[in-house]
Amino acid sequence: MGIDAYLKRVFPGTAEEYAQRAERAMLDGERLFVVTANPEILMHAQRDAQIEKLLTSPEAEVVPDGISVVKAMHILGLPAKERITGVDLAEKLLAAAGRGKKRVFLLGAKEEVVSALAEKLLAQYPGMTVDYHNGYDGDKDVIFSEIAKLSPDLVLVGLGVPAQEQLIYRHLPKFTKGVLMGVGGSFDVMSGSKRRAPAVFVKTNTEWLYRIAREPSRLGRFWNNNVKFIGEVKRAAKGGVSKSQR
Ligand code: UDP
Repeated sequence: MGIDAYLKRVFPGTAEEYAQRAERAMLDGERLFVVTANPEILMHAQRDAQIEKLLTSPEAEVVPDGISVVKAMHILGLPAKERITGVDLAEKLLAAAGRGKKRVFLLGAKEEVVSALAEKLLAQYPGMTVDYHNGYDGDKDVIFSEIAKLSPDLVLVGLGVPAQEQLIYRHLPKFTKGVLMGVGGSFDVMSGSKRRAPAVFVKTNTEWLYRIAREPSRLGRFWNNNVKFIGEVKRAAKGGVSKSQR
């Protein structure tokens, strides 16, 4: 399958529209698996059949996490209003869960990060239930089976792409309700352990630049995913065969 096949499924509306859709699903007790698609997972899907399967599964809803995904959709003539970042969507869902006194599970990040976030949420939203587990200790499949037994309304998984999406997808049949979503490094930001890019970077869609400047080790990952991604998209737009399909 080409990159265009994945992008055709991506939500074309605004971040606010999608947040409302996901909040409603959570409050109505539906099950919803949200994939915030960045170039990294889209490139992985081309190399890995399992990731392609989850990304194209009718059970997954895919939103464009990053300006290059929105640009790619435009290059292919697909509608796309704006990027929908995992951290913003997670914050909105947590606020809705807080107001509705819902049950939340946070899986991932270092123990001090995830526990600080849980504490912060409990202080902010009295009546909300927050359980958590760090992303380093224990067997994740065993932990996820335990999470399913709690029947949470919101499950945020911060283990990084694509491990977090694969874990959710493997265990999805065990959940009858709940919004489940991979959030990458969002717990680090939401807990206050890591600073998010200043507003000017967020507004100008150059958050990626800030992250590379702060953590130069990200440059290799950025090149491998984002730059190659745009190449693949341009090839798909011309009706060409992608490098990975040759
Ligand atoms: N992480 C984890 N367990 C691991 C590896 C990573 O919990 O075995 C966490 C890590 O602490 C960080 C997140 O996964 O909070 C990945 O963050 P990164 O910034 O790399 O993800 P991105 O937002 O770029 O997808």
